[in-house]
Amino acid sequence: MAKVVARAFAKRGISIVTNARFDPAGVRVNAGGVSVTVGPEGGEAHEIQAGQMLAATGRAANIEAIGLETTRAVVERGYIVVDGVMRTAEPHLDAIGDVIGRLLLAHVAAHEVSPP
Ligand SMILES: Cc1cc2nc3c(=O)[nH]c(=O)nc-3n(C[C@H](O)[C@H](O)[C@H](O)COP(=O)(O)OP(=O)(O)OC[C@H]3O[C@@H](n4cnc5c(N)ncnc54)[C@H](O)[C@@H]3O)c2cc1C
Repeated sequence: MAKVVARAFAKRGISIVTNARFDPAGVRVNAGGVSVTVGPEGGEAHEIQAGQMLAATGRAANIEAIGLETTRAVVERGYIVVDGVMRTAEPHLDAIGDVIGRLLLAHVAAHEVSPP
């Protein structure tokens, strides 16, 4: 998939910089749009000027400080483990939504309210 997307981007003149880091404090809005300084961690960075910037970082379940440690609920890889009907290992404690780490989308969470 990555190779196919990279080729399609290249044809459209879109460059991909991998293993890249940028300093959010260095983001500058200017007449041409936005500029960021990007480069490999610990390596040489260079400035990229673009019309628009899309921030698409990953997401994680917000399961800290909600008292899970006082229950038998099992957490694996940062998400609460549930069975086919959303029950955790703690009787009477069900979990739905982003905290169970399936598809992290609102309508998926809504469906999980009434599992099949
Ligand atoms: C930038 C962005 C864009 C998105 N766009 C889309 C989209 O276009 N379409 C789509 O389907 N999904 C989208 N999502 C995903 C969608 O928002 C989530 O999948 C959905 O909100 C998950 O619902 P949830 O009920 O699991 O969690 P949330 O909606 O995050 O609800 C959790 C609630 O619990 C509260 N809470 C947390 N800790 C505590 C606590 N200790 N005590 C009391 N309350 C607490 C929080 O304040 C929050 O209100 C997007 C998410 C982001 C971040």
